[in-house]
Amino acid sequence: MSDERAERIADFIGPLRVKPGSKVRLERDFDPRYKAGLKKRDGIELLRTGVSLLAEYQERLAAQDTYGVLLCLQALDAGGKDGTIRHVMSGVNPQGVRVSSFKVPSAEELDHDYLWRYAQRLPTRGEIAIFNRSHYEEVLVVRVHPENLVRQKLPDDTRGPDIWQRRYREINHWERYLTDNGFKVVKIFLNLSKEEQRTRFLKRIDRPEKNWKFSAADVRERRRWDDYQHAFSEMLSATSTKWAPWYVVPADRKWFGRICAAAILVHTLMDIDPQYPDVGEEARKELLVAKRDLEQEAPAGAPADPYADRHPSAARATGRRARPKKKRGQGVSSK
Ligand code: AMP
Ligand code: MG
Repeated sequence: MSDERAERIADFIGPLRVKPGSKVRLERDFDPRYKAGLKKRDGIELLRTGVSLLAEYQERLAAQDTYGVLLCLQALDAGGKDGTIRHVMSGVNPQGVRVSSFKVPSAEELDHDYLWRYAQRLPTRGEIAIFNRSHYEEVLVVRVHPENLVRQKLPDDTRGPDIWQRRYREINHWERYLTDNGFKVVKIFLNLSKEEQRTRFLKRIDRPEKNWKFSAADVRERRRWDDYQHAFSEMLSATSTKWAPWYVVPADRKWFGRICAAAILVHTLMDIDPQYPDVGEEARKELLVAKRDLEQEAPAGAPADPYADRHPSAARATGRRARPKKKRGQGVSSK
């Protein structure tokens, strides 16, 4: 991986990152239609590059088995979370990724502290976990609709007006703890304009095969637009940290949002720079003994090492040339 490419990616996503400690006002600070001067045509190629880089890095992350990555995705309804996950993760090995969607909490979940259900879905080492909605709902929908807080059965003396500041602090500490223990946390807010949300809702109503994606509740939530913008702005201001930054991704153009999401994830993985493990001198010797045994099993007429035969550079790496074994009588006798 060239440093130049890593630098280009860092430059590309730089303007999307919320500077820790800065006071965000969404409508003023972030334009949902920003596209970095790109055209959709260039975007397709860029996304392809991003997706293949992700696949490569994800394989290394899994092989190294030391770090895990948590990507939190937040957006308003119709912001494009599902499509982003589908496109950005399209090239990676499904075994290395775990996607969790968080809905209205169950009775069992409400019987625990508010971070409990998210902790159940954290990545293992070597894994990328994606939260489709996340613990941030606990300072978003729960804040905009306080009846959610009532259902959480908190002791009276913990439900004062400082609860949101306290939750920001608790979340920051939790993410710090995860980072310190080898789990990188990265957070994306897909920033949609009110007019683009209206358009997407109408599309969901107009196209029968999209109807299932729409519910009357979506329109009710839309009426609380300003409250959500406020809750998002406060959350971004309080919880974008050096160890777990927020990125505000322009979401009015789906293709651009997806490139940004891929770039942010690639950047996170580049930062980890996972390496394939070196098996060590002893294990290497054992491999060579096994290699010799396998070569001796070659049937008559077959090369000792068919793989090395086809890939001479690999053969050089193991220090031996693969030669066909001498024919001994009629080969196929293993019945
Ligand atoms: P969807 O993502 O469209 O399937 O909807 C999931 C719903 O669950 C949304 O309306 C969210 O607001 C709601 N939801 C997610 N997390 C929470 C939470 N912690 N408390 C209350 N509602 C939530
Ligand atoms: Mg929905």
